[in-house]
Amino acid sequence: MAGVVYAYGSLTFPRKFLHMGGERFKKKEYDIFAPPTNIWQKGSRDDVFTKNYIPRDKNGTLTSGKKFRLPLEVVPFHYILEITPILNNGSKLGAQWTAPGNIKILVDCVRVSDSITLHAFLIKFPKDAIKIRDLKTGEKLDVTNHGQSEENEDFYVIKLAKELQVGHKYEIDITYIAPVSLKRLDGLYRNQYTDYKTGQTKYLVSTQFEPYSARQAFPCFDEPGLKASFDISIGRKAHHISLSNGNLVSSVPMITVEKGWIVDTFNTTVKMSTYTVAFIVSDYSYTEADSNLFPNRPVRIYGPKAVIDRGGGEFSANVSARVLAFYENYFDVPYPMQKMDSVAVPGFPVKLYDKFRKKKPIKLLFIAGLNIYRDRYLIEIPGVTPEALRGTISSILAHELAHQWFGNLVTCDYWQNIWLNEGFATYYSYIGQNFTNPEFEPMKKLLVDANQFAFRLDSRERSSYPILLDSDHPDELAHRFFGIPYYKGAALIRMLDGILTSNTLRAGISRYLKRWAFKAAVQDDLFVALQEQAEEDGIELPNNLTVTDIMNGWTKQRGFPVIRVVTLNSSTISVIQIQNDVRVDQVKTKKLQEQPYLSWHVPISIASADEPDFSNHSPKVWLPKGVALVNMDVDTTKWLIINPDATAYFRVYYDDNIAANLRKQLNTDHSVISPLTRSQLLDDYFNFAAQGEMQISKALEFTTYFGNETEEIVWHILLNNLRRLHYFYQEHSDASERNTSRSVPAFQGLRDYLLPRLESALMKIGFEQSPEDRGAIITTRSRLLSWACRLGSQLCLDYANKLFGQWMNNTDVNPVPTDLQEFMYCYGVRAGGGKNWLFAVDQFAKATNLLQSLRLAKSLACIEDEDVLNVFMDSVIDKETLGVSKEEFLVIFESLSSNPSRRHLAIKFLRTRLPAVIRYLNGTRSVNVLFGLLTDYVHTEEELVEVQKIYSENLQQIILEDDVVDIDEHIVDIKDNIQWMAKYYQPIREWFESQTREQSHRKV
Ligand SMILES: [Zn+2]
Repeated sequence: MAGVVYAYGSLTFPRKFLHMGGERFKKKEYDIFAPPTNIWQKGSRDDVFTKNYIPRDKNGTLTSGKKFRLPLEVVPFHYILEITPILNNGSKLGAQWTAPGNIKILVDCVRVSDSITLHAFLIKFPKDAIKIRDLKTGEKLDVTNHGQSEENEDFYVIKLAKELQVGHKYEIDITYIAPVSLKRLDGLYRNQYTDYKTGQTKYLVSTQFEPYSARQAFPCFDEPGLKASFDISIGRKAHHISLSNGNLVSSVPMITVEKGWIVDTFNTTVKMSTYTVAFIVSDYSYTEADSNLFPNRPVRIYGPKAVIDRGGGEFSANVSARVLAFYENYFDVPYPMQKMDSVAVPGFPVKLYDKFRKKKPIKLLFIAGLNIYRDRYLIEIPGVTPEALRGTISSILAHELAHQWFGNLVTCDYWQNIWLNEGFATYYSYIGQNFTNPEFEPMKKLLVDANQFAFRLDSRERSSYPILLDSDHPDELAHRFFGIPYYKGAALIRMLDGILTSNTLRAGISRYLKRWAFKAAVQDDLFVALQEQAEEDGIELPNNLTVTDIMNGWTKQRGFPVIRVVTLNSSTISVIQIQNDVRVDQVKTKKLQEQPYLSWHVPISIASADEPDFSNHSPKVWLPKGVALVNMDVDTTKWLIINPDATAYFRVYYDDNIAANLRKQLNTDHSVISPLTRSQLLDDYFNFAAQGEMQISKALEFTTYFGNETEEIVWHILLNNLRRLHYFYQEHSDASERNTSRSVPAFQGLRDYLLPRLESALMKIGFEQSPEDRGAIITTRSRLLSWACRLGSQLCLDYANKLFGQWMNNTDVNPVPTDLQEFMYCYGVRAGGGKNWLFAVDQFAKATNLLQSLRLAKSLACIEDEDVLNVFMDSVIDKETLGVSKEEFLVIFESLSSNPSRRHLAIKFLRTRLPAVIRYLNGTRSVNVLFGLLTDYVHTEEELVEVQKIYSENLQQIILEDDVVDIDEHIVDIKDNIQWMAKYYQPIREWFESQTREQSHRKV
């Protein structure tokens, strides 16, 4: 509409802001960097994982009584696959988005039968599609019938006129048409990216078969234990390339009625599982790693040409080659394939997000010789990619490449043993990254990611289950592919490292890999190999127990022990196994009746003032299964730690005497106690407090020394546990409001306590980022600075303003380090009023990469002036010419919601504009995301009522859409926040106030 004036004081919106739409989209590398994950994560990741973690149908049950395992009349040993995905319209070869194929499966008959059952799903079979031949006699067997099984829709049954003979080999020849899915992200599916130079949409076809979607691309025996070799040929148009697991052997014109088709043939693979088969048809180009890094086996990164030309694949190529060489040497087992290709596929539309996968929507997958990644987890562009993301990329590469050994070479026999794939890939990814990128300090992060995350999953009813899964239901198994098998798996391997020592674990793993190479294994196979190694190395296990005896307790039951340490006298402690506490949701600890108690063999190691050795993780004593208590001699007048470095998988609860000694030591010289130990101590105590087993003050008391604490893994625990205060009390933190009536003493207490410690820690690691900084120091500083700025640190605000001001003076050089931009832009905008805001608008319009434009979008909601904000928000959804993308809009909205003094605007906006927002976002699924962005931060009864009103007033509009907004879930989130406030606000306030009083007393 002409004539609308957007003004801020004397400043008018730049015209280009109103008309930058279409052009702006084209210029952006929209498909190179999808939004940072944290936008889609609700709260902390344990919230994500524990809510509705296990899918259930409306009756709350999972089992349907079907059979899921193949009856196995025959066992495959070789596949010959020819398939041609059709990307274009009007081909004589077949319809667009289908893939005509032929597969020959060579099998051994192991059971007399007149039928063969294999897997096929969504595949179409012509009438005479199936031919069976006896390879011994050459005889053709008549197929009397074939079709989907009534027992299980994934089964396809071929009926024969004659029985198959045991010991004979047969060829099953099937001609078929597979779908290329446009909606699903498994099987064979279409993907697309925008060529940001031309704005053109480019299509590619890729695969995602794990755990059971290979059957959507070709008929097969789709169980991980049924390994076979593969000959694969892919048909493609001449201007495309194809990739598969093997090396390309030949490319020849296809003999067909249509010109311009090529058939690529790849060499025979090693024996592998169907889920590890992969292929891609695209127009990508590649970068290759220096061949000296991993001799004779090319390591390539594939992506859109424009991205590869900018050097976007170089970091990943280098890391991949180095980590492959490292693993080959570390495990003493050769890499089984002839090359390693990694392919970046574009980010997925928001609506396809699976909430269960929010933590790691990553990997698409790991496959032998060909890995497929979401683009943002593979492409690194120097100067653009933040350091934190660079760390994530190298960590993910190390994980996915570890799967070449754990998963591809040795495969879990069936998905119940998935931890043999995922636990090991997770654990070794940290060892691998420690080799390629030690600057990210992965061995410290391993504790947080593995043990601490697993503890949280493992202490809640809904997310805790035995790591050795006990179901064979595909849906249930698929939803357990996240969480426990990864993180508890890695934590248990950490524990084995402590029990067996690092050298023995490494040699035992090597033994296991060699013995089970190209085969499928169960967990006992692993434990037997470790046992043999332990015996050979003279490692003694207690009471003649074997590795299997010990580990069964940890893998076959859920939960973990809690160890209470009690002072008996000045030279003795009692170490007591008190419970397995699986928490039933948010309710106070409930001991689960079906769980046997004291059923772990628990290794107890110790460090103390007299023996302060944190590198020795060998157990001093064991608390055997069924035994509640053991006494240990140690000087109890000085500090002591049970389970130094937290190598074993249990929590520790100390009595007051020991806790006081520990506090004393931390305040005198915290460095005597290792960083891993300090981190776990805090994590244990905050969790005991959260479960109502102790006052939160007992946990907070361990933080008084934090002015000297420079480790992110330790700060992380405190900051995470104060996360809600951080969100809810920001309005009182503005330095300008410090002495106004809006300033609340409770928050003052938090600030007065935390800020000096944050600033002191920042002084120690360096307040400002220097060009030489790499890795953990950058991410630590970024974390601490974002809190410091939010708490009103003048030092932090000055730093932000200085950098932002420099940028405004010289727009050619942006001096704000990428890892600090996310929050610094906001303070830059807030400090400078309209002028700075307009500068941010200008930069937003000019931004050429998505991460940058998202950060700037976020900062636009930081302006103080409410009128400008209101007009701005309305314009975003009303004026398409503004060219604000949905992702950017969501970021702006979250920025508003997370700011307590602006949250009412976010609520009002939704309340008055919801129908327009739904139109703008193209459906309610995105609106669901939007509600989530708000409810994360809502924490009062009044706000709850407001949110409920928005929903009820717009019910009609919302339920007209296909996807109903899951308001109940959002209401639960808000109620959680309100509950948290009710429970912790007062004690935390009192504690912070008492600390502030003590401090001022001391000053006096
Ligand atoms: Zn994995």
